[in-house]
Amino acid sequence: MKDFRYQALPMRVTFGAGSLKTLPEEVRTLGLQRVLVLSTPFQEDLAREVSEQLGDLSAGVHAEAEMHVPIESARRAREVAKSAGADGYVAVGGGSTTGLGKAIALESGAPIIAVPTTYAGSEMTPIWGMTEKGEKKTGRDPKVLPTSVIYDPDLTLTLPVGMTVTSGFNAIAHAVEALYAPDGSPIISLMAEEGTRSLVNALPLIVKDPTGTDARSEALYGAWLCGATLGATTMSLHHKLCHTLGGTFNLPHAETHTVVLPYALDYNSAHAPEALAALRRATGAENPAAYLRELSLELGAPSSLRELGLTDSDVETVVNMATRNPYSNPREVTAEGIRGLITKALNGEPL
Ligand code: NAD
Repeated sequence: MKDFRYQALPMRVTFGAGSLKTLPEEVRTLGLQRVLVLSTPFQEDLAREVSEQLGDLSAGVHAEAEMHVPIESARRAREVAKSAGADGYVAVGGGSTTGLGKAIALESGAPIIAVPTTYAGSEMTPIWGMTEKGEKKTGRDPKVLPTSVIYDPDLTLTLPVGMTVTSGFNAIAHAVEALYAPDGSPIISLMAEEGTRSLVNALPLIVKDPTGTDARSEALYGAWLCGATLGATTMSLHHKLCHTLGGTFNLPHAETHTVVLPYALDYNSAHAPEALAALRRATGAENPAAYLRELSLELGAPSSLRELGLTDSDVETVVNMATRNPYSNPREVTAEGIRGLITKALNGEPL
């Protein structure tokens, strides 16, 4: 076994159908008195229900979370939080809402309670992201790691099937890259393997019956584990490509992860034997990259980057950006290699 360092991230997790009802108790346990409830405009009704449930503990609702946290949106939310006298934030929603909570906490240092409703995994990471003048900046700061996370699978019952699938693949992508991360460990690999197994098992069941609570629970459990692996390790080529495709070409986050993952894994597989063995165990497939592509297609996910809006003339920009700064990856990142990978993903070629 290789030497390793494992840094546990301090937080409490409450998991279970109906566990949202524990939120007021959780707010009190953390010693908070007035928490601002955050959501997207789309999930405002849910945020209002949560605020009502909190009663005097609520400092109100701010339902203006947006994808990629534009700096203006972060500034507005900071003002609202200040004038409401909030001493903490409850982020009810996906990665965009948790991201807004992080943007406020980055400045104020006040704690976040996350109530995730997708599988993006931001609630498990000390990573913040904000967009200014079209450029997304990210960083790590322990201040933005949620203090407490309430995973209530009932809240994912409304997640449309298409988003469930792509959000699930977004989570699997964290696990795949954690398995060959330079700062991985046997503990993180356990989580990555189990998270992947849970999601590949649950997603087809959810597509068959989106109201099935057992499968929804299994998927959210998998997403938690995968999110934890993202928070604990440094991501490689796949995340670099998706960051570029999202940031520069405005491609949708979870869909882009879903299309790129099999090709990025295919690029790296032969150079990451332990990761490959773990993914074989988790998926039961000899070729996990081909398996993930077939599974995503069977479950109705987009099949190519072209479908998401990328064009032939964009390929060289992606190649240049992906090869510009050196970063850790099991296989050397070459212009020729990335050109091949992106061209295959652009056309949705079989693996
Ligand atoms: P999202 O948060 O943008 O949600 C997409 C839409 O789905 C929103 O309108 C939202 O209100 C709605 N929605 C969410 N849950 C729902 C539910 N259960 N039922 C019905 N509608 C629901 O999407 P996302 O994929 O969760 O997050 C993507 C963002 O998160 C990106 O900006 C990405 O960069 C960021 N992210 C950050 C980290 C991190 O560690 N910092 C990790 C993962 C993702």
